[in-house]
Amino acid sequence: MSDRIYNFSPGPATLPLEVLQQASSDIINFDGSGIGICEISHRSKEFMKVAAEAESLLRELLEIPDNYKVLFLQGGASSQFFMIPMNLLGNGKKATYLNTGTWSKKSIKEAKLFGEIDVAFSSEEDKFNRVPREDEYTVGEDSEYLYFVSNNTIFGTQFNTIPTSQKMLVSDMSSDILSRKIDVSKFGIIFAGAQKNMGPSGVTTVIIRKDLLECASENTPTMLKYKTHAEKESMFNTPPTFAIYIVGKVLKWLKQNGGIAAMEEMNREKAQLVYDVIDASDYYRGHAERESRSMMNIAFNLPTPELEARFIEEAAQVGLNGLKGHRSIGGCRASIYNAFPREGILKLVTFMKDFEANNPA
Ligand code: PMP
Repeated sequence: MSDRIYNFSPGPATLPLEVLQQASSDIINFDGSGIGICEISHRSKEFMKVAAEAESLLRELLEIPDNYKVLFLQGGASSQFFMIPMNLLGNGKKATYLNTGTWSKKSIKEAKLFGEIDVAFSSEEDKFNRVPREDEYTVGEDSEYLYFVSNNTIFGTQFNTIPTSQKMLVSDMSSDILSRKIDVSKFGIIFAGAQKNMGPSGVTTVIIRKDLLECASENTPTMLKYKTHAEKESMFNTPPTFAIYIVGKVLKWLKQNGGIAAMEEMNREKAQLVYDVIDASDYYRGHAERESRSMMNIAFNLPTPELEARFIEEAAQVGLNGLKGHRSIGGCRASIYNAFPREGILKLVTFMKDFEANNPA
């Protein structure tokens, strides 16, 4: 596969090559059935098995307790911004949110449509360059949940320790699910769009404590109630079958490669290789404060926007693609999820050192 390049895109992002190879054959003839995976009925026994396997692998890998339901939904992670407060709030109920980036800001906006929202911390004035320490915010007694984005994809910050709170946690783990060990039992809801660490876009995984399925008011639209999807095992309507199929294959790959513990160790090492280059020079400046650094997305700047543009262009010429930072902060960003190969990191690190030597500030 020598014509494949290293793809640092934040999502949709790099998937394991083995998974893509298997999919390329299953797309024409799934598992010897004579029908391609995109053409099989979601109610067929073949697809029911695919969905059940994906769920069971996710349960095994994340050690999801039995009192949680796993849902595969559509509408992207962004639909969870309103589904969560729509199902859990209303009737004057309150929730606490931590504003650590674009995705938390968007979810705060939606949550305000349904309840009283206390934004207990914001790093917006500092261009979202960090997440809070625990002593920087409080969660009110009357709050239903504490909401946080565990990894801020755009700004390259991450909660390196999961907040501890008397209240249940609700978290957007779109860009770091399955990258490190977490204790699911501390959460009411965990959700993640698949397109970073799990598969292609089109499916959003929701892990929800079962008692919360009962919280939605009667006038909630059917499709927007978690209960609807839970009762029908995510088959209330046609689910995103191909995306779920790929998620299952990615989870299988993850298990075969040592599971979450192995991923976490590898992710730590991969990220450190890049941070070491940043720390060793004044040329590269990391966006995130050290204690808030993300293992998944590394956002950094060069001395000038012109050098950044040249860096991105020359990197692409040698097969290092997708290093442009998000338009809201500019600069550069390397997104290195579970499936991003270590060799690509080594190539980036060498490129960074050479670029600095050849392009003085
Ligand atoms: N949350 C996070 C942390 C994200 O990075 C993204 C998208 N990149 C979203 C939510 C929105 O996801 P979607 O496009 O699936 O709605």
